[in-house]
Amino acid sequence: MKKLIWGLLCCCAGSASYANNDVHWGYQGEVSAEHWGALSDQYQLCATGKNQSPINIQGTYHSTDQHPIQIDYAENPENIVFNGHTVQVNAKNSQNNKVTIDGENYYLKQFHFHTPSENTIDGKQFPLEIHFVNANAQGQLTVLAVMVENGQANPEWTKLWKDFKAQENQTKPITSQIQLQNLLPTTREYYRFSGSLTTPPCSEGVNWIVYKNPITMSQDQIQMLQKVLNFQHNNRPVQVQNGRIVIED
Ligand SMILES: [Zn+2]
Repeated sequence: MKKLIWGLLCCCAGSASYANNDVHWGYQGEVSAEHWGALSDQYQLCATGKNQSPINIQGTYHSTDQHPIQIDYAENPENIVFNGHTVQVNAKNSQNNKVTIDGENYYLKQFHFHTPSENTIDGKQFPLEIHFVNANAQGQLTVLAVMVENGQANPEWTKLWKDFKAQENQTKPITSQIQLQNLLPTTREYYRFSGSLTTPPCSEGVNWIVYKNPITMSQDQIQMLQKVLNFQHNNRPVQVQNGRIVIED
């Protein structure tokens, strides 16, 4: 078990908004996902929530009208850190890093990695999943999820990793120019549903966009992340869908 991390940089959450959640959680043993709801009053939704993430995506409904998502990640990322739960790349606080959905702007806060994937598609699990966490002016979250499969190496990953230090909470500035569009699929059909943070406090009301098409990374690149995690997984198991509708766009 890795050294305890006190929840200051929780995956899928803005770093500041959940700074008071100081109860340790993890993916193995007594603090693993099935125990999260009992670890703290603030984590109750992890056990009682009805709109929890991740899910197995199946039985989707086709949208009759188009909802194009405009992604404009113009600024280079700020820094990269292993926060004890995941490798996280923090974005610059900028109006130029945004996702526009139905006229609403969501600004990129950070992106991070899960291995294996958290969401599954028709039961298929991928070796890795990237979560791009975006927030609008009211703090509502939209997460863009990108599946990764084994294949060609991804040049952006190599550039990010150049600055990475595996020691916990050793935040390092990004020194390369990163083309974030190369961490997104070129074909951008997606599934859309309402869910939650996949980490404590499991807050709901998160807009999830999961791209149908994966990107690729090499086996070596995927293993770089697995090695940082001591070859232990950092995915929450899939949760009950509870009648939620998944729209296919
Ligand atoms: Zn995540």
